[in-house]
Amino acid sequence: MAEKMLQFTKVSRAMPAKRPAPVRAEDFREIYADFSAEAAKTQAGRCSQCGVPFCQQGCPLQNNIPDWLKLAAEDRMEEAWRVSSSTNNMPEICGRICPQDRLCEGICTIEQSGHGTVTIGSIEKHITDTAWAEGWIQPIKPPRERAQSAGIIGAGPGGLAAAEQLRRKGYQVTVYDAYDRGGGLLVYGIPGFKLEKEVVERRIRYLEASGIRFSFNTRVGKDVSLADLRTEHDTVLIATGVYAAKDLKCPGSGAEGVLAALDYLTASNRKGLGDTVEAFESGELNAEGKRVVVIGGGDTAMDCVRTAVRQGAKSVTCLYRRDKANMPGSQREVQNAEEEGVVFEWLANPEAILDTKAGKVKAVRASKMKLGEPDASGRQSPVKTGEMIDVKADMVIKALGFDPEDLPMLFNEPALTVNRWGAVRVDYATMQTSLPGVYAAGDIVRGASLVVWAIKDGRDAAEAMNKAMKAMASTKVAAE
Ligand SMILES: Cc1cc2nc3c(=O)[nH]c(=O)nc-3n(C[C@H](O)[C@H](O)[C@H](O)COP(=O)(O)OP(=O)(O)OC[C@H]3O[C@@H](n4cnc5c(N)ncnc54)[C@H](O)[C@@H]3O)c2cc1C
Ligand code: SF4
Repeated sequence: MAEKMLQFTKVSRAMPAKRPAPVRAEDFREIYADFSAEAAKTQAGRCSQCGVPFCQQGCPLQNNIPDWLKLAAEDRMEEAWRVSSSTNNMPEICGRICPQDRLCEGICTIEQSGHGTVTIGSIEKHITDTAWAEGWIQPIKPPRERAQSAGIIGAGPGGLAAAEQLRRKGYQVTVYDAYDRGGGLLVYGIPGFKLEKEVVERRIRYLEASGIRFSFNTRVGKDVSLADLRTEHDTVLIATGVYAAKDLKCPGSGAEGVLAALDYLTASNRKGLGDTVEAFESGELNAEGKRVVVIGGGDTAMDCVRTAVRQGAKSVTCLYRRDKANMPGSQREVQNAEEEGVVFEWLANPEAILDTKAGKVKAVRASKMKLGEPDASGRQSPVKTGEMIDVKADMVIKALGFDPEDLPMLFNEPALTVNRWGAVRVDYATMQTSLPGVYAAGDIVRGASLVVWAIKDGRDAAEAMNKAMKAMASTKVAAE
């Protein structure tokens, strides 16, 4: 079957069909179609089966990419899914939303040799979507039930990956989340045009059917304490993400119509899920008919501009203080936004929000910048040119990133140590925090990061929690 591989000199790189911009801007459905079974096989056959697979090194989960590409090319989809799902709890989600250009696909050998990367993410999505459609994914039936239990705080990708891994070993697992649904930012942050909600809900239903208990509307630190969870469970995982929005520090930033990105995106996602959202109905969090300016250059900013387009904004402008090549967001998302009509004002740093006499936002005043000397991180620092511009706005969305909340204070646990940015400190070999039996994973450890890293942390933490609980069980048996 080896002749099915190394086709990259004969077969060009092809992505699944993308819906035309004017059509996709009318709704919140995903913009890429699925590969046909034939296209997935053909594209998988482009893999060069490198002896040292760089793509695997570029994937935080160290996915065995060449193996499942080969199986997919040979039409052995069920085996491909088994290999793919052995290292990843949500391959269909990563396939959709990993910034592959910065991870596996960015360092694919045939990309480096100028042939165009293997479309790893889209094939990964196809394999697992096929597994769901064919019924290969069935609720977990652990080989034996264990009496010990784990409490997981946070139903985002970090918490869910850990919960699944622990349930596979037979532990009793309860996931506590402040929200009314599972998924964390997969549901309330990331818009449906990147990841349809049903894809996440399907995962939650599967985990519930596997015996994992979910306690929604439960905020740890308010409705239940960390101390209570430590008493109730043998081990506890903190996977609460980061939600303290970085603020805009300039005159006028308190004007009416200046919004936090996550408030805006959450309202939009809730509307899509059928919830009633008063601040959306009142128009406060709805961009329809407005001139919208989004400040920031990351994934969150791209999600805001593209959401505003879909809500029927009159115009959408993104202000970013560096240039296109230096944006932190995925280039693929920038391109999608440009296609959908978003105007980018590169090298523009907000200096003031201008408002009307009634205190409503009317424009953003920005300094034009140029790139100067590299800073400590090696990136060129933006410096002012002296030129100023005013961009008219009825709604300004701040998408400047997120910091961790003060968890030791919120959890009333001063012994929980954090680093100088407020992220929970762990021993990366075990993901254990300064509190015995308490582990941490995902954004709350790394700061705002990626879904695939949260999954990796969740898996690592679950492995360490399993070892710790096994050791506790054998100590108990020895003592009896
Ligand atoms: C708008 C936006 C777009 C993004 N786009 C992408 C993308 O395209 N690709 C990508 O890889 N990453 C993206 N990310 C980043 C990604 O979503 C995060 O890195 C990832 O979700 C982190 O997972 P997590 O499990 O650590 O936390 P989260 O997903 O944030 O989940 C944390 C959960 O903990 C719960 N929680 C918090 N505090 C408490 C408490 N005290 N008690 C109980 N529950 C609590 C929250 O309700 C939440 O459900 C995006 C982020 C944002 C904001
Ligand atoms: S999980 Fe993400 S980085 Fe890893 S292979 Fe899949 S798409 Fe690439």
